[in-house]
Parts: sequence; C-alpha cells; structure tokens
Amino acid sequence: MDNWIKKDLKYIWHPYTQMKDCRRFPPILIERAKGAKLYDDKGNFYYDTISSWWCNVHGHNHPRIKKAIKQQLDNLEHVLFAGFTHKSAILLAEKLVSITPGNLKRVFFSDNGSTAVETALKMSFQYWQNTGRRKKTKFVSLDRGYHGDTVGAMSISGVDLFNEVFSPLFFSSFKAPAPYCYLCPEGKSISDCNIDCIKSLETLLKKKNNEIAAVILEPLIMAAGGMIIYPGEYLKRVAELAGRYNVHLILDEVATGFGRTGKMFACEHVNAKPDFICLSKGITSGYLPLGATLTTEKIYRAFYADYEEKKTFFHGHTYTANPVSSAAAVASLSVFEEEGTLSRIGKLIPVFHSYLERFRGLSIVGDVRYMGMIGAIELVKDKITKKPFALKERIGLRIYEEGLKRKLILRPLGNIIYLNLPLCISKAELKFILEETFQIINSFDNSICV
Ligand SMILES: *Cc1c(COP(=O)(O)O)cnc(C)c1O
Repeated sequence: MDNWIKKDLKYIWHPYTQMKDCRRFPPILIERAKGAKLYDDKGNFYYDTISSWWCNVHGHNHPRIKKAIKQQLDNLEHVLFAGFTHKSAILLAEKLVSITPGNLKRVFFSDNGSTAVETALKMSFQYWQNTGRRKKTKFVSLDRGYHGDTVGAMSISGVDLFNEVFSPLFFSSFKAPAPYCYLCPEGKSISDCNIDCIKSLETLLKKKNNEIAAVILEPLIMAAGGMIIYPGEYLKRVAELAGRYNVHLILDEVATGFGRTGKMFACEHVNAKPDFICLSKGITSGYLPLGATLTTEKIYRAFYADYEEKKTFFHGHTYTANPVSSAAAVASLSVFEEEGTLSRIGKLIPVFHSYLERFRGLSIVGDVRYMGMIGAIELVKDKITKKPFALKERIGLRIYEEGLKRKLILRPLGNIIYLNLPLCISKAELKFILEETFQIINSFDNSICV
C-alpha cells in the first residue's frame, strides 16, 4: 500500500463505507479527470460510470465551466447572502425559474441535496402555520424513498439499510408503499397494472389530509432505493391526489434533475406541477456543492408580512448561494444550450436501452430497468422465485471489484448494479461500458456464489 493510501486510512473516515472493507479495497487515488474518465496516480483510467455520485453532467474538466469558475474567483469567492446578493445567484435564479416546470417562481438556495429537502419540508410546514391550518404538520413519503442524510430528511426516507439504526430519532410521518414494479406490492404484472399500489396513499390522503402538509417523492426514479423506475401514471395520480386533497407536492429532483432522464427534469415526462422542487447534485454539473428549492408565488406570499407577525422563514445555510458554485451552475446550464446536450443524448438513449435489454437473458439478472441515461440491473439468486442474494454474499461488492479491473465503477446499491452515465458520454464509450458490464455479470453464475 503506498504512502498516500496509508495516510488516507490513518486520518480519513469515508462516507457510506465500512472502513474494515478498506483493508481489502483501499480507496483509489484520483489525480485528474477529463470528460467521462478519471485517472489515478499510476496513470490508469476509470470510466465515471456513475457520474461521481450522480453529479457530473457535461464531463470533467470542461473548459466552459472551468472558465466561469475562474472568472468568478477573480472577483468574489463568497459573501453572506442575507442583506447582500451577487450577480451569479441572480442569473441562476432567473434561469432556474425559466426552465423548471409549472408555477415555480421563487428560488431558495442552500448547499446540498439534504438541505434542499429540509428547506422544502420546513417551508411547507410553516406555510400551513402561517395560513392558520395548524394541524397540517405531517408528511407522506414512500417506502424505499431517499431524501438525504440529515435527521429531517432521514425521517421521510425509507431505505432501511441506511436508516434503521437512527429510527428512534425520526419525527413521525406517513409512509406509502413504493411503486416497485419488479416486486409489485399488489402482486400484479405490467400488463394488468392499474396503478393499484396507489390505493393506500389515496386512502391516507382522503382520511388524514387535515393533518398532512405535503407528499414528498422522487419523480419517476427512486434512485438510492435501488434505481426503482416506476410508471409515469403513478406520479401523475399522486399530483392529482395532492391537488384534490390540498396537500403540497414536493418533488425531490436532486438525483433526476438536469438531464438524467432525457428531459431537463423528470416531472416534465408527465407534466406534473409541484409546489416545491428540490435540486442539487447535477446543478453545477458536479463541480461544486449547491442546493436549490423552488416554490410558487402563492407559498412565498404566505411568508411575506410585517416582521412582528412572525411569518419570516428563519432558515438558512452558511454557504447558501456560494458565488463560485452559482457561476458553475450558470455555466453548466449554458452548456446544455450550446452543446445541445439533451438532443445529443436523445440519440444515444435508444442505443443504451436496447443494449440493456440483452441483460435480461443472464441467469442472475432478475430485472432490467432504464430511463434516460440511467440503467439498473437487479441481481437475484433465483430468477423464478426472485429470491435475492443474501447480504453476506456481497455480490454487489464482487462485481464492483471486477468492474474496477475493467475500467468501470459499478458501485452497487445492494444487489442492484447500475449505470448513471455522464451526459457527455460518447457512443463508443457507451458501447465499451455496456459490453464490459455484460461480460462481468455474465461471468458470475449462481454456481460460483457461496
Ligand atoms: C443524493 C440525494 C439527496 C441528498 O443529497 P446530498 O447532497 O447528498 O445531501 C436527496 N435526495 C435525493 C433524491 C438524492 O438522490
């Protein structure tokens, strides 16, 4: 083990990592990156097949974004955002309002995805307090949904492996079953699906809407829950129900925003109009941290009052609307236009998806799902009974290890292997990645699993 890694393991505690695993799988030292490739200190490269945790959009080391960051740094690196403002935040807010769907007219900045979610929760909660409907204090979210790692965001998340141990800390909320088609909670198949899994959510809203502030969910793709891709009809109906029962609709587009699904935002696929949208991850093309929560003028107005009325939104984060992050985000949005990113990937997506269909034939592949530049392969011990691999088999980790040998980062979500490709990927790179992934999964047969 070289000295850098020794020091890393001496001083650093990595996120989402069982540090004991690092003895066998020490972290890889990355020194530079370009486009979709990451280069380590020995000159090896890896395809950034999960976009550096779903953040990178236009590729690493993009000249346009780099230039914007440098220019911003020459003028202003940071300033407090109460009582002061700056042009990059103003430009970005204007742009976000113009590209987000529906009636979202106000932008509240923060610095990551969890804070973008916390902001929406607190705003929704306080909206009902400010408008005299004091009992509307609860949230509804989905099993297997993921909204961040702060305690509030965890309270409305449902990925048990991550959060179980913290559950005594959570505020109480309502949970509805996830529209997880592969393991359909109603025991149906796609052909006879009538979105019956929405019934318990509907009943809940019908009975308890007096207590409910908002419904929060990830539109179309439940990302950390296992890249669960669900029918647009489900989202459409949730939006209708939220409207009918007078609860806010919060769409967490932290993972799905900025082109991942083939459109700028996932909710555009079904024309859902949220009361809040939460953005982060791809907002700066993965260059710097930034979060944003957009809401409607109606909600904003419920906070607009004389100071002594105590309607102010007393919430903020120190690095809110950081100028360098904001400049990177403005540049990233310009690149979408200049490079015609969405129409370019529009041509790649069918190639990607039809190749993924081939994975269905493999013996340990239970399900294949895809949307936009995201594709997921759910591995099972038994294809017929859908019996999963046991945790201790570490099937995901073993595939990850194999992936690294073949220049891929197949960091799994449990037994789900996925690709979340940067939008800059070329057709040749895409083919290489898919071909290698196929070979790797093919090389794992039930027989060699303990
Ligand atoms: C990653 C993620 C978050 C949390 O974002 P952080 O920046 O990691 O705090 C919230 N919601 C969704 C849907 C995410 O994928």
